[in-house]
Amino acid sequence: MKVFNTLSRRKEEFVPLEPGKVRMYVCGPTVYNFIHIGNARPMIVFDTVRRYFEYKGYDVNYVSNFTDVDDKIINKAIEEGVDASVISERYIAECKKDMEGMNVKPATTHPLATEEIHGMLKMIETLIEKGYAYKAEDGTVYYRTRKFKDYGKLSHKNLEDLQAGHREIKVVGEKEDELDFVLWKPKKDGEPYWESPWCDGRPGWHIECSVMAKHYLGDEIDIHAGGEDLIFPHHENEIAQSEAANGKEFAKYWMHNAFLNIDNRKMSKSLGNFFTVREISEKYDLQVLRFFMLSAHYRSPLNFSAELMEASKNGLVRILTAVERLGELLPSVADKEMTEEELGVQSQVKELVAKYEASMEDDFNTADAISAVFELVKLANTSVDEKSSKALVESVKTTVERLCDVLGIITEKKEELLDADIEALIEERQQARKDKNFARADEIRDTLAAKGILLKDTREGVKWTRA
Ligand code: AMP
Ligand code: ZN
Repeated sequence: MKVFNTLSRRKEEFVPLEPGKVRMYVCGPTVYNFIHIGNARPMIVFDTVRRYFEYKGYDVNYVSNFTDVDDKIINKAIEEGVDASVISERYIAECKKDMEGMNVKPATTHPLATEEIHGMLKMIETLIEKGYAYKAEDGTVYYRTRKFKDYGKLSHKNLEDLQAGHREIKVVGEKEDELDFVLWKPKKDGEPYWESPWCDGRPGWHIECSVMAKHYLGDEIDIHAGGEDLIFPHHENEIAQSEAANGKEFAKYWMHNAFLNIDNRKMSKSLGNFFTVREISEKYDLQVLRFFMLSAHYRSPLNFSAELMEASKNGLVRILTAVERLGELLPSVADKEMTEEELGVQSQVKELVAKYEASMEDDFNTADAISAVFELVKLANTSVDEKSSKALVESVKTTVERLCDVLGIITEKKEELLDADIEALIEERQQARKDKNFARADEIRDTLAAKGILLKDTREGVKWTRA
C-alpha cells in the first residue's frame, strides 16, 4: 500500500511499526461552534483511510482529539456568560451528531485536552530538563526552537527563511528567540487554568496533541494526519516537542488533506465563507456530503458547489438503486449452478474489485475507487436480472455493499436519501407560499404528487406521507 508522506514528499510503501496494526492520530476540531464542511473533510477522508486498513485486516487504533481549551472557546463562554466547559461540551455533542450523520466511526479514543493536563506538565518538565524549553519571567514556558536540529523537516522550511518571515515582528515578552513557541502560558482573568510549577495557566495548542498521541498510542506512531494548514506550525511543533522529549521518531507517515474551497478560496470560519455540516444536513442526507468529499483525491483541492452536490447525489442514488434492485431480485431467483456466462460476469466482478483495491492502495485514490464501483453497478444493471442464479445476484450485491462500506456509504439508506429531497422541496414550497409565488408552490405540490407524496397541512406544519 502506497501512502504519500508529507515528510519525504513522496509516495512510500506502508510498513506498520507492528505487523497487523495501525496506530493513527488525527487532529480534531476546536469545539466552539458547529463544525463546517471544511472541518468535515479530514474526518471523512481519514475515516475512509481507517476503514480501508480495517478492510485489509489491520487492527486500527484511531485517536482523534477535541481541542476543548482555546481562546475562541473562552471568548464564546464570556459572550454567553457561561463556563468554558459548557461551550466545549455542547459543541462536542453537536460534532458527534454530525459525525454520525456522515457515518464517521467514533475513534477508538476521543481524548479531551483538558483531561490530559497531567501528561502535558510531565512532557514540559522533560523538555525543560533536556534543555529544550525554558521558563520566562512571567511564567510562560517556551520551546527553544533552534535547539531542535530537525526543525522544519516536515514543512520543508529552514530556520533562515523562518527567521526572515519574523523580521517585522517584535520579540514579545521574554522569548529568547522569535522562533520559540509557547508550551504553557499564564492565566488571564476569568480563564480556565491549572496549577503548574511555572504559573497558574494553561497549555499551548501544540503540546496537547503531542501528549494525547503519546498517552493513547505511545512514543512512535504510524500515521499522523490532519488538514494541510496544520503542517506548519502545528505539526512541525508537535514533532519538535515529541522527538525532543521521547528521543524517538514521532510519526512515520504524515498525511494531509487539501482544502475544501468555496469559489476557490479556503472555507473557513474567519473568512465567513462556510456552511456548517448542520446546514447541509437540512438540504441533503449527509451521505451525499460524504460521497461528494470522496469524489476527489484527498490531496486535491475540492471546490464546493450545489452542482457538484447534485451530481454526487445522483451518482449515489444510482448505486443505491442498483443494490436495491439486486435485493428485490433475491427472493425469486433460482438457486442453481452459475452458467458459463455468469462465471464470466463473476470474473469481471473480481477484476473490478482488484481495480478498486489498486486505486485505494495508490495513496487512497477514492475518486478512482468510486469509478470502479460505478463500473460494477453498470455490470450489475446490464448482466444481472430475474433469470440470473441466486449465487450471482448475491455475489454482486455483497461486493457492491462491501466496497461501499469501506467508503462509509450505507447502501440501505436510499429512502432516507430521497426523503431529504422531499423535505427540501416542501421547505421551498412553504417559502414560495410566503412569497406569494403560488405558481411555484403548486408546481412543487404536483412534482411531489407525481412521486406519490401526499402533503397535509397540520397545526405543527406540513406533514407528508407516501401514497
Ligand atoms: P480547526 O478546528 O480549525 O483546528 O480544524 C480542524 C480540522 O479541519 C483540521 O484538520 C483542519 O486542517 C481542517 N480544516 C479546516 N478548514 C478546512 C478546509 N477548508 N478544508 C479542509 N480541511 C480543513
Ligand atoms: Zn493536533
